[in-house]
Amino acid sequence: MTAPEEEEERRKGIRDFVNARRNTNNTNNKTLCLIVVDVQNDFMLPSGALSVANAEEIIDDVNYLVDIMTAEKDLVIFTQDWHCPKHHSFASEHRGKKPFDVVEIDDDDDDDDEQNTTTKTTTTLWPDHCVQNTKGAEFHEKIRVPASAKVIRKGFRKRVDSYSAFVENDKRTETGLGEYIRGVNKGLELSSSSSSYSSNNNDNSNGDGAPTRIITDCIVVGVAFDYCVRFTAEDARELFDTVVVLEDLTRAVGLGDSREEARAAMEKKGVSIVATDI
Ligand SMILES: [Zn+2]
Repeated sequence: MTAPEEEEERRKGIRDFVNARRNTNNTNNKTLCLIVVDVQNDFMLPSGALSVANAEEIIDDVNYLVDIMTAEKDLVIFTQDWHCPKHHSFASEHRGKKPFDVVEIDDDDDDDDEQNTTTKTTTTLWPDHCVQNTKGAEFHEKIRVPASAKVIRKGFRKRVDSYSAFVENDKRTETGLGEYIRGVNKGLELSSSSSSYSSNNNDNSNGDGAPTRIITDCIVVGVAFDYCVRFTAEDARELFDTVVVLEDLTRAVGLGDSREEARAAMEKKGVSIVATDI
């Protein structure tokens, strides 16, 4: 197969995948949600501070997916890792530690606290990466971010990392994305059932058996499969009936068994992990 033929074959796989998501469970032409995770220089470029192997390979296909979903007015969201300088997840902030060490840290603001009264969290330390307003934090120059897309920044609080686009690693601080999506759904619900809408109606039905047009399906792509894609997809299950990670359009960091652990954890939460060719 020639290169153009291979590209068209891949694009057909992506189109077929989106169409299958759009027409499921006897509901046709559904509005979908797409979350594109952290397609930023520090993760994507081979020279990036936290380079994910072969991440640039996904760019053309991610652009194509974003284009066809934007054309259908799907809800398209881009996440952006956005750390303050000296972020607590950086190994450089922990004496004697190096990148990729797994350590226990506490949520307290006082580094010298000896009382150990605060909650301990096990976390991975990273090289300094995606520091706000630096080249490394910018989206890769070949990624097209439509003007209509929502960009959600995460990890900007100094003491707490945020792998998920929904809830930070302390498992309690929300990023605002969940509230944004609930607001979009509310608008869709009101506009689709304005004549029969009832505020007491919580069963996804507008009273005559037809489903309201809230967004029930979410597709997740980007980097890294085993960290931010994983936790974003897991938390997305709180908001969506169906969450699918399109594995061809992800790449993994691959620390120890992180890829296999991520796969098992996502499947346990009911996230589907699929390839475009099935
Ligand atoms: Zn980060």
